[in-house]
Amino acid sequence: MTHLLLDLPPMNAAHFASIEDRVARLLSTTQDVVITQGEALLPLEGAIRATAGPGTTALNVVTGPYGQTFGDWLRDCGATVIDLTVPFHTAVTAEQVRAAFAEHPEIDFVSLVHAEAATGNTNPVAGIGEVVRAHGALFYLDAVASVGAEPVLPDAWGVDLCVIGAQKAMGGPAGVSAVSVSERAWARMAANPRAPRRSYLSLLDWKERWIDGGRKALLHAPAQLEMLALEACVERIEAAGLETVMARHASAAAATRAGAVALGGGLEPYVRDAAEAAPVATTLRVPSGTVASDLVARALSADPALPLAAGGGALAGEMIRVNHYGPEARPGAVRASLAALGAVLGAAGLDVDTDGALRAADAAWH
Ligand SMILES: *Cc1c(COP(=O)(O)O)cnc(C)c1O
Repeated sequence: MTHLLLDLPPMNAAHFASIEDRVARLLSTTQDVVITQGEALLPLEGAIRATAGPGTTALNVVTGPYGQTFGDWLRDCGATVIDLTVPFHTAVTAEQVRAAFAEHPEIDFVSLVHAEAATGNTNPVAGIGEVVRAHGALFYLDAVASVGAEPVLPDAWGVDLCVIGAQKAMGGPAGVSAVSVSERAWARMAANPRAPRRSYLSLLDWKERWIDGGRKALLHAPAQLEMLALEACVERIEAAGLETVMARHASAAAATRAGAVALGGGLEPYVRDAAEAAPVATTLRVPSGTVASDLVARALSADPALPLAAGGGALAGEMIRVNHYGPEARPGAVRASLAALGAVLGAAGLDVDTDGALRAADAAWH
């Protein structure tokens, strides 16, 4: 392993703050951005524990496994939780959220996952944000799988807590994450006696000891490798242009979807409506009689570098994910994935058209 990773000078407060500012620019936000030194579950959990308590009535939108986790945290905080669960092959609609508020006007917190890499759907945050704003509820968004792949605009959408991680479309490290926090969210935390304080989960610690102090003194030694990697991946996105990076993800998803349909053999897009399919990863339903995790294992044994994965947990039998994370959102990775799927489905005795799939993918790229 390279010694470039060793003997680094300590990262100072000014450098740390400049990386926060860069992340804020990436999100077009004027809210405070706190960089959290851990995988995205750290700010996802920290933000819920800081803002939710026994007085909270939370509308928890479940469009995949992360929504289920958020519901568990909310209940653990003592909140009354109303789960709005939609089938994982679709997205939630603003109308469904509006109906939930009509039925439960006491809702004062909404948790939503923007894009779900695990199920391949993406939710219409702008329209949902309007509904949430109209009712004055606090809006918590998991944008880990959308940032870099599609627009993430916390200010324009009225998101109070917007969590991102670098490990998906940003093509960065998994060990660092960030959350943008609105004034309303800070006020909710300050008024919450159960919000973590003097704790690694605490966002208020960063507010009081870092932000309010003018970002002069860090709370602890920063995880400098992750911070440098985060800085490098934001720099790479800025150099290519965020719009260009997002367009590559959209093209990769469109090409994979078109290719999978043309491949045939019973392989189908898992998310039925293309408009609800996330640009970060394309999920596919495998033909009946085949097992997704077996097909993926066979494809990866031929080429371990392919961006393929089987669905997690209960989805492992039926779902294949073609990931388009950062550098993988390119025609070569899409073509290699389709060719590999053609090979393993063909070997399983299914009637597939790999050449047709590659042509359809190329035609759909733009
Ligand atoms: C990937 C992802 C995360 C981060 O979780 P990992 O378990 O580290 O992959 C969080 N939220 C969503 C919606 C994700 O897709």
